Amino acid sequence: KNENVDGILVQLPLPKHIDDAKVIEAIDPKKDVDGFHPSNVGRLVQGLNTFIPATPYGVLLMFEHFKIETKGKRAVVIGRSNIVGRPMSILMSQKRKAGNATVTVVHSRTENLPEITRGADIIVAAIGISEFLTGDMVKDGVVVIDVGITRVPDETKTRGYRLAGDVDFESVSKKASYITPVPGGVGPMTIAMLLKNTLLARERHIK
Ligand code: NAD
Repeated sequence: KNENVDGILVQLPLPKHIDDAKVIEAIDPKKDVDGFHPSNVGRLVQGLNTFIPATPYGVLLMFEHFKIETKGKRAVVIGRSNIVGRPMSILMSQKRKAGNATVTVVHSRTENLPEITRGADIIVAAIGISEFLTGDMVKDGVVVIDVGITRVPDETKTRGYRLAGDVDFESVSKKASYITPVPGGVGPMTIAMLLKNTLLARERHIK
């Protein structure tokens, strides 16, 4: 309720004994810069003015910036989390900029996943399993957005690990027309979009 605070985000995941949903619902939707409050999610689903969750927002902006046509394309979103997969699939299927795609959502219970990804013009991978998507699972010319970030033990690094995405960059990049790296792809875009939402919250607040 503090008038000096314009935006609030809860760094997820929370420790197991704290209920994420309860905490998120306690945030004023007008300050919910992550766009995770149920009323903001409802607004997003209905295509109303809201805060678009930062990670999918960054992906939409990449499509726009690099003039990647999504209209009429077959898009496959891997993962159905409330943070990435779910909003991403909804946004890409909507009548909007970087939308109008024919979207399929695949997840941990999907059967014959490679068959589905092989038919995709665009793939957004948000699973959290390092190098899950390999070259044999995609077609030539595919556009691949790698959201995943996983720490993989690596003795050669001083910190003892390296960061890996959900995509095997080595094999997929040979077939892809566009592909985002990890690190340095979706991550920085997410941070930028979070700041954009915070600025938006401030502007809406002072109006
Ligand atoms: P999550 O664990 O909430 O969801 C993972 C999803 O992957 C689930 O919907 C599950 O059904 C699906 N999945 C799991 N195993 C699968 C399998 N074998 N085949 C198909 N689908 C499978 O994770 P999340 O919060 O959506 O995050 C996903 C990844 O993205 C993580 O690595 C996370 O660190 C990363 N992430 C990155 C950013 C960024 O800014 N780059 C932002 C958010 C999340």
